[in-house]
Amino acid sequence: MSECLFCKIASREIPATILYEDEHAVAFRDINPQAPVHVLIIPRQHIASLAELKPEQTALMGHLLWVCAEIARQEGVEAEGYRVVLNTNRAAGQSVFHLHLHLLGGRHMRWPPG
Ligand code: AMP
Repeated sequence: MSECLFCKIASREIPATILYEDEHAVAFRDINPQAPVHVLIIPRQHIASLAELKPEQTALMGHLLWVCAEIARQEGVEAEGYRVVLNTNRAAGQSVFHLHLHLLGGRHMRWPPG
């Protein structure tokens, strides 16, 4: 059995507020939101980070981005705008080593990010 937190959320062993799921992806609210809308989009398949991505997984990444756009529509942040963040490894702040996209919206985003 996987010890990965996000694998356990995907398999519903650990509860989360799931907004969307399909064969390949799961989207759920971040437990410590950094914006009014903060949703994590993950592949069901365990991929530790973007740095581990294999050529055969590129279509899956495209699918995850499509899920982000769908959730942004559902959450009503499409028109104002939103940000998608993919922290990769420690210096970028990755703390959970199961690849995930952060969808952030509902407030003004600064640039450059911290
Ligand atoms: P990162 O720092 O990019 O690896 O992002 C990990 C994210 O997972 C953080 O924003 C955390 O708040 C979030 N997180 C950690 N545990 C949970 C959980 N049990 N349910 C939902 N989000 C979580």
